[in-house]
Amino acid sequence: MSGFFEGRQLFIASMHQKEQVLQPLLEAGLKVNVAVADGLNTDLLGTFSGEVARIADPLTTARKKCELAMELTGCDLVLASEGSFGAHPAAFFLPANEEWLLLLDRKNGLEIHTRHLSTATNFAGQEFSNLEELEAFASRVGFPSHGLILRRSKDNPEGILKGITDPDQLRTAAQRFLETQSSGFVETDMRAMFNPSRMQVIQETAQLLIQKLNSCCPSCQLPGFAVTAAESGLPCSLCGTPSSTALAHLLVCSHCQHQEKVLFPHGKKTEDPQYCQVCNP
Ligand SMILES: [Zn+2]
Ligand SMILES: [Zn+2]
Repeated sequence: MSGFFEGRQLFIASMHQKEQVLQPLLEAGLKVNVAVADGLNTDLLGTFSGEVARIADPLTTARKKCELAMELTGCDLVLASEGSFGAHPAAFFLPANEEWLLLLDRKNGLEIHTRHLSTATNFAGQEFSNLEELEAFASRVGFPSHGLILRRSKDNPEGILKGITDPDQLRTAAQRFLETQSSGFVETDMRAMFNPSRMQVIQETAQLLIQKLNSCCPSCQLPGFAVTAAESGLPCSLCGTPSSTALAHLLVCSHCQHQEKVLFPHGKKTEDPQYCQVCNP
């Protein structure tokens, strides 16, 4: 089912040009008219580079962004985006990018969000004490297609230079640091318009959200009926032992909490013996 939001005006409560990927997807996927909430300074709610500390969890921050944009625009349908970076929650040695998208619909009293975790990120930072170290870091993280941030030391926002995408500017600024101190700190700029990898993860998150918004609950007919958990145990086709593959998906309505269990979500009733703990240990 689609068309629940069709014809409505939707504002994006976001800075840093995320509308480049969000607008075409939302317009095609939800048949809404998309505009950006101009004049919204979401940096007041926290920045990645730490000039303004983030205090709330991502969902609360995204909700605040939506509410600010609703006040500013008078629109009752707003989408906000929120991202965070750090060690992967299960594989600590890998950096990960977690993206959230939250849609607030005041007309229908709906709040629907999606969260997407990706390891396709260049998130990194390190000290450098000469230009060779700096340039090795820069090429490892995809500079200059991906922007960089330079600062005097890791937690010092003083004299911070953001959004560097020009090799000459990088070298000149770093040289200036190294004239007065023995080292500087370089890190990836994670703002979407300076980070095509992040833009890609935001795009994937938007696709997941649109899928969720176009899936309506069989009980209350409202959008937001989505898979929230998987139950493993699809039996091996040879010996019948339960495998780690999903036997069922649990779908829950984000509005009325109606639940449904869908058996054999991948369209097959048994698993190949090559994934069986008994047949192929
Ligand atoms: Zn088996
Ligand atoms: Zn429902």
